[in-house]
Amino acid sequence: MTMQPAVIAVAITGSVPRKKDNPAVPVTPAEQVESTHQAFEAGATLVHIHVRNPDESSGSDPALFARVQEGVRKHCPGMIVQFSTGGRGREAAQRGSMLYLKPDMASLATGSVNFASMIYENPPDFIDILAKDMLEKDIKPECELFDLAMLYNAADLVKRGLLRSPPHVQFVMGIKGAMPARRSILEFMISEMNAVLPGATWTAAGVARHQFEVAQWALELGGHCRTGLEDNIRFDENRLAASNAELVKKIVDVCGRHGRRPATAAEARQLLGLRPA
Ligand code: ZN
Repeated sequence: MTMQPAVIAVAITGSVPRKKDNPAVPVTPAEQVESTHQAFEAGATLVHIHVRNPDESSGSDPALFARVQEGVRKHCPGMIVQFSTGGRGREAAQRGSMLYLKPDMASLATGSVNFASMIYENPPDFIDILAKDMLEKDIKPECELFDLAMLYNAADLVKRGLLRSPPHVQFVMGIKGAMPARRSILEFMISEMNAVLPGATWTAAGVARHQFEVAQWALELGGHCRTGLEDNIRFDENRLAASNAELVKKIVDVCGRHGRRPATAAEARQLLGLRPA
């Protein structure tokens, strides 16, 4: 039996964990490029990027995105670069301000949702603006689905010509206030996705202690998976992760146990419908 390749995404930084939470969180562009390179060598083929201001708060300066993208392209040949357009600590107008740099992909949340202590606001007109901008710049969105309605919102974007078919979606599971990490929910979401977004590719991301369990389901169900310090700062209940690469290696092991292997960068691009590097 041939082993089906899996795209391993690494969310290296995020907007929440600080160095005081885990010293391995890369914050400066140099640290981010180095951490991405180690993760790439370990088997990751897609990097999801947030940038940080010098005080570690969530940044939006396009110059920082540019430096990270340049470093990744130089040191990690073919790796898929994905910018976050996530909201925490950023004004709406800033969230897409770096898309002129034309990363391969960018995240696109297709609805609003309550997190534990805040509203992740993605109003309809804002989603349309971001989707249109990505379409015009030939950036493939990763539709971030935190809840059921966001799946149908993504299908509506396709219907209205704002999102190319087939899209790539990510099911985010385990955030309090949003979709719980339950296999039954993931299976339901996949069957609905197949009905309303035929041909779509998908990743499932489990947050914190759910990370490896959700990755296991994703690999068994034919999807791709995501790891990294943005979602999970721990290696296991006993200790913090030493690096993004260590988390990627753990996912590579999970792949092997489920008849999957890490995709090469070229395969990852082909699987997600991106042009070769
Ligand atoms: Zn993110």
